[in-house]
Amino acid sequence: MIQEIKSIRPIVDDSLKQVFIETYGCQMNVNDSEVVLAILQECGYALCDSIGKADLILVNTCSIRENAEQRIFGRLDIFRLEKKRRKGLIVGVIGCMAERMKDQLLEHPVVDIVVGPDAYRSLPELLLAVNPGNKQIDVKLSRTETYDDITPVRMDKNGVSAYISIMRGCNNVCSYCIVPYTRGAERSRDPQTIIREAKELYANGYKEVNLLGQNVDSYRWKGESENDNVDFAKLLEMVAQIAPDLRVRFSTSHPKDMTADVVKMMAKYPNICKHIHLPVQSGSSDMLLKMNRKYDREKYLSQIATIRELIPDCSITTDVIVGFSGESEEDYQLTLSLFEEVKFDSAFMFYYSERPGTKASRHYPDDISIEVKTERLNKIIELQNKLSLESNKADVGKVFEVLIEGASKRSESQLIGRTSQNKVCVFTTDKHKAGDYATVRVTSCTSATLMAELI
Ligand code: SF4
Repeated sequence: MIQEIKSIRPIVDDSLKQVFIETYGCQMNVNDSEVVLAILQECGYALCDSIGKADLILVNTCSIRENAEQRIFGRLDIFRLEKKRRKGLIVGVIGCMAERMKDQLLEHPVVDIVVGPDAYRSLPELLLAVNPGNKQIDVKLSRTETYDDITPVRMDKNGVSAYISIMRGCNNVCSYCIVPYTRGAERSRDPQTIIREAKELYANGYKEVNLLGQNVDSYRWKGESENDNVDFAKLLEMVAQIAPDLRVRFSTSHPKDMTADVVKMMAKYPNICKHIHLPVQSGSSDMLLKMNRKYDREKYLSQIATIRELIPDCSITTDVIVGFSGESEEDYQLTLSLFEEVKFDSAFMFYYSERPGTKASRHYPDDISIEVKTERLNKIIELQNKLSLESNKADVGKVFEVLIEGASKRSESQLIGRTSQNKVCVFTTDKHKAGDYATVRVTSCTSATLMAELI
């Protein structure tokens, strides 16, 4: 067990064994890679920036869609060439795919180590035991592991914004979703360790923490007495009180569990960012029932009304799946009309990808043709682009405080800042640097970006 943390930034030291970590998928995976790096640094590895320098390549994988998995097999082919060139190179597959496809991965000629999301502590042992004839695997899921004593080694580039996992796993079993099978049952992390980690980040210059969980609204910590119990609203308050200039974000919220207390807490503290990511998945109550989301269209819209009432300037973003099993044209139209009604600020939009092992794969045929799925996806993307543009146009002329993340990709003289509403804002200044706050007025926009001037 790791008790003492030496550094929250990667050690770069060519004299040590080198690890290269490649991360796919969600923010949880990004944060998991940082936990893995902390474990590896403790046993003598340093992070390197190319596979050509690595003694160990770890690929942290995602199983949420089929094409995410296919991409990993493509990467393994690249690593095969590298392995041919350099004997002794170790390749490990970690994360959700390691859990879901353990046997197939273990048989893959390139893969030496397979480690699931709850077994990262065993990496040092597995690395000692691995050799060409002796592949290693640990994919045990845990009911208690939260890695709460490990301070992740931050791999972000800007040193401004960091992820903190507040819980792991998921108990919801949405019928299309593989996550409960790859990440196991839900467990919440001791709030004191979350606060310690947030304080450490703040002391190291970070200005924003993003609290992560598959369903943050079900965060619950049972203390010694009733007074010590902590729910998500309380946790938000505890983190917000660390410092007024430490921004707090969170994801992902669940429409069935989000409480008015959480929204009230966001309204109470200026440093809790005014943005909620509330995945809807479908606008049709029939589809939502089949997806096992445990809310219907009306409940979702009533949650939106609560947010709008308590925080009028809150941005709302979402996830949606089109072309789920049996989705009729009418169901799809309900999704489009819900988008029109809510006017999301932005959305992650996908067509349904059946995942073996899920309830949907066992009980509901994947019966919408790829042509129809693609057409529905394209149309909703077009609609959302229009809504995003409208949302951004409504900000033109308004004043925002932005947290600066660094230079824009196009020009060194332009900086990128983020509004509390999670919108990216580009403006010119020579007085500020990453990590500073700046006050700007929006002058123009595209559907993706606000252009602004410093005031
Ligand atoms: S809430 Fe549903 S979609 Fe989200 S991780 Fe859990 S099972 Fe998957």
